[in-house]
Amino acid sequence: MDNPARAHILRGMEKMRDLLIVGGGLNGPALALAAAKAGLTSTVIDALPELTRRNAAFDGRAYALALSSVRLLRNLGLWERVADTAQPMLEIKVSDGRAGEGPSPFFLHFDHAEIEEGPMGHMLEDRFLRRALIDAMQEAPEIIQLSGDAVVAQKVGPQGVTLSLASGETLRARVLVGADGRGSGTAARAGIRRTGWGYGQTALVAAIEHDLPHRGIAHQFFMPPGPLAILPLPGNVSSIVWSETDETAARFAALPDDAFMEVLRPRFGDFLGEIKLRGKRFTYPLSLTVANSLVADRLALIGDAAHGMHPIAGQGLNAGLRDVAALAQVLGEATRRGEEIGAPDVLARYQQWRRFDTATLALATDLTNRLFSNDNPLLRAARDLGMGAISHLPALRRGFIREAAGLTGDLPALMKG
Ligand SMILES: Cc1cc2nc3c(=O)[nH]c(=O)nc-3n(C[C@H](O)[C@H](O)[C@H](O)COP(=O)(O)OP(=O)(O)OC[C@H]3O[C@@H](n4cnc5c(N)ncnc54)[C@H](O)[C@@H]3O)c2cc1C
Repeated sequence: MDNPARAHILRGMEKMRDLLIVGGGLNGPALALAAAKAGLTSTVIDALPELTRRNAAFDGRAYALALSSVRLLRNLGLWERVADTAQPMLEIKVSDGRAGEGPSPFFLHFDHAEIEEGPMGHMLEDRFLRRALIDAMQEAPEIIQLSGDAVVAQKVGPQGVTLSLASGETLRARVLVGADGRGSGTAARAGIRRTGWGYGQTALVAAIEHDLPHRGIAHQFFMPPGPLAILPLPGNVSSIVWSETDETAARFAALPDDAFMEVLRPRFGDFLGEIKLRGKRFTYPLSLTVANSLVADRLALIGDAAHGMHPIAGQGLNAGLRDVAALAQVLGEATRRGEEIGAPDVLARYQQWRRFDTATLALATDLTNRLFSNDNPLLRAARDLGMGAISHLPALRRGFIREAAGLTGDLPALMKG
């Protein structure tokens, strides 16, 4: 646990905070910062020590952040901390493929030049985003961070929520926010059930150096066992998210680096010249898990605690950041109107705003994975034809580009241009 923060908590133990946020991953800290902009105080608790979360090798993911998410980071003063390490995503190319055969001739091509807002998003590595969030929280007087201590119990009363920590301490606030990821204990303790299933797929994630420039183009190859995404990072480097069946992924993950690259090469292809591994490799088991409700008594869920989805469309964090911006706006507006932020009708506004969107997105990613992660010749022909057709319909194509940029739907103020 961080000692200065702990002392601060102990001193202010009797003080009621506005928010207790369980989970100091990505969405929890983003919410604390967005809420601070509306003048709300919060305590962010994470079971992992801060040093672990700050470690550059903690998480190998790189996120495709939609334009709307970039706007949120900009409005929270985070973008200037990470902009130098981000890569604009200018085009996306989607195709069917098989290992060793290269992409099919039918593909979808989305070019940011077709919309006026600029790049549809940026690629940003977890290690830069996570550290920027922790640093920004440390500088915000409204936020207390508590690390290396787990929430073990929660109790809701008429005045607020009380949390018990593994260390034996208790904390109080008006609203409890579950930002504690896919296995959200906050949701479970509140009796919120989940809908979901495992995909039997695991994502292999690594950074790959290549001879030729990627020109800001992201590629998604749909292979029968699962998709391979090749996503541009600054310089001649790309991040891969390569989904395989659990058994194959475990086998490939156990290979030494050279042998791993030998199995990757025929899938990756040679369009970027010679490729080599940069740094550590990571694995992530894939599943769908959607909370049946986003709110309960004095409680709201955000991020993966609300909806953990397949990374096939790179939308999980983007959806979480939309939750963040929407919840901060609902709570900020309630505060300005003199309403109690933990009142059921206030939290219901958040649920109404986000529930349909998140459920639709989770199902769309599920359907896409089912449609593309197979070798059925009929489905293969149908999706190739579909991709070819969309490529020839500019209005539909622009719709997809705006969707990827996160510009559709009812955007919260922090995500507007
Ligand atoms: C391979 C892969 C690639 C992805 N790529 C993209 C992408 O390109 N674009 C995109 O938008 N999304 C992407 N995603 C999704 C994205 O990674 C997640 O949506 C995001 O990381 C979720 O963040 P979170 O803060 O909600 O949860 P988490 O990062 O899971 O954080 C939860 C935190 O809660 C803490 N915690 C849990 N229980 C307790 C407790 N009892 N007490 C205290 N603390 C607790 C944990 O320690 C953890 O730090 C990808 C996902 C995967 C698997």
